[in-house]
Amino acid sequence: VSGFVWIVGAGPGDPELLTVRAARVLAAADVVAYDELVSADVLELVDARAETFSVGRRAGCPTPPALDSRIVAHARAGKRVVRLKGGDPHVFGRGGEEARVLHAEGIPFAIVPGVSAAFGAAASAGIPLTLRGVSARLTIATAHEAKDLEHARSFARTLPREGTIALYMGVAHLAILGEALVREGFPPEGPVAIVSRATLPDESVAVGTIAELGRLRAVAPAVLILGDVVAERVGAAAAPAARATFFASDACAPPPAAAPQP
Ligand code: SAH
Repeated sequence: VSGFVWIVGAGPGDPELLTVRAARVLAAADVVAYDELVSADVLELVDARAETFSVGRRAGCPTPPALDSRIVAHARAGKRVVRLKGGDPHVFGRGGEEARVLHAEGIPFAIVPGVSAAFGAAASAGIPLTLRGVSARLTIATAHEAKDLEHARSFARTLPREGTIALYMGVAHLAILGEALVREGFPPEGPVAIVSRATLPDESVAVGTIAELGRLRAVAPAVLILGDVVAERVGAAAAPAARATFFASDACAPPPAAAPQP
C-alpha cells in the first residue's frame, strides 16, 4: 500500500492562522517534514508519536534536491506524510516542484493552502491590499535577485506602476532596492511598510517612504508592502496576545427590516 503526502501551508507563524484542514492532517500525520520557516508553535500541533524532521534549506548552502528522499520513502512505506511549509506552498514555496516529483513517483498527494506572508502581514499591520479608489491590483514578487543596483533596477522595471506590490525575500538589500525604485520612476515619497516576522510574537512594522527604505527596520523574515494602500493603514497592529480576542462591534449592524407591506 502506498501512503499519502499532504503538502501543507502552515501560514505565516501564528498557529491560529492554520486552516482547519492543515490542523487536522498535522494531528493525524505519521511523519512531518518541515521547513525552517515553520514556527515552533505550529509544530506543537503534531502528534507526539509522529516522526518529525527538518528539510530546511539554509541560505548559502547548496540547493537540495526538489524533494527530500525520506518523504518518498515514508510514503512508499504506507505512511501519512505531511510536508509542512511556511505560508502557502504555491507562493515561493516550491510546492509545485515537490508535487511534480510526487506525481512522477506515482505517490498520491494533495496540496493544503495556507495564509501567505503578505496576507498575514497586511492583516496584522492593518494595511488593505486592495482598496476601492486606491488600489485595484496586487502584485506578489520576490526581490531576491536585487542584490546590486543593476539587478535591482532591472527588477524594478518589471514592476507595475499601479496598485499594491508585496515583495518577498528582499529585505537584505533595502537601500539598493529603494534607490533602484526611485531611479526607475517610482515616487521617492511613495509609502512603504516592512512587516517583520508577521503574526509571530515579535512582529514589528516599519512604515516610511521609498526614499527611506534603507533606513527602515527589517528583521527576517519580512515582507515589504509598497503602494498608496500603506497610507490607508488603520488601527495599530494588535499586540499578538490580543489577537485571539473577539471584538463585539455594531459597525455592521444588519440593515433595518423592510417596512411591512400595506
Ligand atoms: N511560502 C511562503 C513564502 C516563502 S519565501 C508564503 O507563502 O508566505 C520566504 C519569504 O516569505 C521571506 O523571505 C519573507 O519575505 C516571507 N515571509 C515568510 N514568513 C514571514 C513572516 N512571518 N513575516 C514576514 N514575512 C514572511
